[in-house]
Amino acid sequence: MVELHEGPVTESILKIVLEYAEKHNARTVNKVSVVIGKMTGYEESPIRFYWEALSSGTVAEGAELEVIYTPISVKCQSCGEVYEPEDQYSLFCPNCGFYGGEIKSGKELFVDSIEID
Ligand SMILES: [Zn+2]
Repeated sequence: MVELHEGPVTESILKIVLEYAEKHNARTVNKVSVVIGKMTGYEESPIRFYWEALSSGTVAEGAELEVIYTPISVKCQSCGEVYEPEDQYSLFCPNCGFYGGEIKSGKELFVDSIEID
């Protein structure tokens, strides 16, 4: 079953943006940059879809949404090699073949910057 998590996630992003805008008495929000780790599995296009729908009628309406993906970074627990797997299902160390390892990045999701007027 496919679940769309992008709706609630985009709602949280918008909430942060609107709180920031209110705090700084913004007339309009120009640009929002969001950092998303590849491991979260969140897709850019539904986030954009929800962003446009949810921000409509708010000060964030029409704001440019920049989505920055960070790669998955894994540190091998056997040989210490740090590598970037294609996805979370192929965690084989390219150096020694060890499966698994410690995930250093790729799970993050946060609002990086907000530009207002
Ligand atoms: Zn290794």
